[in-house]
Amino acid sequence: MLIDGQLVDAQDGKTFQNINPTTEEVLGNVADGSRSDAERAVAAARRAFDNTDWGRDREGRKHSLLQLQKALEAEREDFRAELIAEVGCPVLLTHGPQLDAPINEAIKWPAEQIDTFPWTRSLGQKDPFGWGMIAEREVWKEPVGVVGVIVPWNFPVEITLNKLGPLLAMGNTCVIKPAPDTPYNATRLSRLIAEHTDIPPGVVNIVTSSDHSVGEVLSTSPDVDMVAFTGSTATGMRIMAAASTTLKSTFLELGGKSANIILDDADFPSAVGTAAAVCTHAGQGCAISTRLLVPRSRYQEAVDIVTEGMKNVGYGDPNDPSNLQGPQVSKRQRDRVLGYIEKGKAEGAKLVVGGGIPAHLPKGFFVEPTLFIDVDNKMTIAQEEIFGPVLVVIPFEDDDDAVRIANDSPYGLSGQITSGDINRAREVASRIRTGTLGLNGAIWYGADAPFGGYKHSGVGRQCGIEGLEIFTQTKTVAVPPQL
Ligand code: NAD
Repeated sequence: MLIDGQLVDAQDGKTFQNINPTTEEVLGNVADGSRSDAERAVAAARRAFDNTDWGRDREGRKHSLLQLQKALEAEREDFRAELIAEVGCPVLLTHGPQLDAPINEAIKWPAEQIDTFPWTRSLGQKDPFGWGMIAEREVWKEPVGVVGVIVPWNFPVEITLNKLGPLLAMGNTCVIKPAPDTPYNATRLSRLIAEHTDIPPGVVNIVTSSDHSVGEVLSTSPDVDMVAFTGSTATGMRIMAAASTTLKSTFLELGGKSANIILDDADFPSAVGTAAAVCTHAGQGCAISTRLLVPRSRYQEAVDIVTEGMKNVGYGDPNDPSNLQGPQVSKRQRDRVLGYIEKGKAEGAKLVVGGGIPAHLPKGFFVEPTLFIDVDNKMTIAQEEIFGPVLVVIPFEDDDDAVRIANDSPYGLSGQITSGDINRAREVASRIRTGTLGLNGAIWYGADAPFGGYKHSGVGRQCGIEGLEIFTQTKTVAVPPQL
C-alpha cells in the first residue's frame, strides 16, 4: 500500500489472497488494510492538501503527472499480464479500454489541460446594488481538497487512472481504495508513484483491503471533501447517504442496462451481428448494450443473426487473443449471473443459446454466452444489471416504441442506435435518456469524452472538461476596479 509516501504493509500485518478467476489458483498475498490504515491515509492526504502548495503548484503537478505517464508506459506489459491474471479480462480488451487507452491518455490528457484550463474567468464590472460600488468580479476554480476514490474490479486500471489524472491535475489529494478482487494493479501503481515520480508524500495514498467497509472511512470521514465512486448502484446509494452526514460532494459512476436499437432500415447482418459483443469481458462492463431492441417487422431475421453470433463467440482462456470472453471475476459473480438466468427462464423468456457453466471449462468461473429471446421489458432480466454474458432480445413496433422501451429502465448509461439514415438515428438519439450513445457503430470513448449516467447510472461525469470541473470548487472574488 502507499501511505504518506511510504510503501507499507497493513499496520496489523494482515494479508489476503488474490485469486486468478481463470485458474482458481492463488496469485499471491496482498496487504489487508484496516479502517485504521484508511484513517492514516486520510490524515496523510489531508496534511498534503492543507500544508503543501500542491493545490496551487500547476507546473509541479504537470511535471509529476507526465513522470507518472512515463512510468505507466514503461510497465505497460506487466500491467497487461496482471490484468489478465487477476481480472480475467481478455487480452484483446487490454489493447483498448482495459489498458492501452487509459495508459495512453488518462494521465496525459488532464496533465496537458493544466495549461489551458480556465482557472479564472472575468465577469466584468458591476455595481450590484446601484450604490456606486463598482466591482471587478472574477471566478476562480480551485481543488475540492481530499478525494476518496473507490474503485470496482471490472476495469480497475481504466477507472483508477481516469479519476486519478483529472483529480491530480486539478490540485486535489486522494486516498484510493481498490476492489478486493483486483488489488495488484493498484499496488503496482503505488510503487510507480513512490519510486518514479515527484508526487509529494501524502498526495496519493492507496489502501488495499479485503473489507468493503474500509471504503466507509472515505465516505464518512470529516477530513474527506469528496467521494468519487465507481461501482454498483446499490453501493452508490449507500455511499451518497453516508456522505450526506458530512455534506461531501459525491461523484458516482454506477450500473447500466443499455439498449442497442436496430431500426428497420439498418443493415441487419452487420448491425445485429455485432450485438454478440455483449459477451466482451464476460459482460462485466457497465456501458455494454445488454438489451437488443429489434423491429417486430424483421424480428425473426434479427433473432437468426444474433443466435448465430452468440453461438460463435470466442470464449475461454483470456490469454488467447481470439477470445472475446473470459471468466466472471469470482464464484460469487458467477453464481449471481446464473441466478439471473434461472430468473429469466422462470419469468417466461425463451433461452436459445447457453444458460449454464460450460462443460469443457471445468476450472475458472465461466458462464456460457447466453441469449434470451421473446423478452418483455418488464422482466427482471431486462430491468436489472446482470453483469454477465447475457443478451436479451426485445421486439418493438416503431421508433416511438423503441424510445419508450429504451427509456423504460432505472438506468441511463449508454447505448447504440443503428439506422440506414443517420438523421433518423440522431433523432432517436435525442430522445434517449442516457449519458453516452454510439450511432451506426461509432465509438464515443476517450479521455476527452465525458462519461457518466442519467438516472440510477450516476451523478457527474468522468473524463472530458466535465471530468476536470467535477474535481474543482468555485470561488467568486470581487476586487475594486483597477484604474
Ligand atoms: P460494488 O459496488 O460491489 O463495489 C465497488 C467498490 O465499492 C469496491 O471497491 C468495494 O469494496 C466498495 N464498497 C462496497 N461497499 C462499500 C461501502 N458501503 N462503502 C464504501 N465502499 C464500498 O461494485 P462491483 O461489484 O465491484 O462492480 C460492479 C459494478 O460497478 C456494476 O454494477 C457496474 O455496472 C458498475 N460499474 C460502473 C461503471 C460506470 O462508470 N458507470 C464502470 C464500471 C463498473
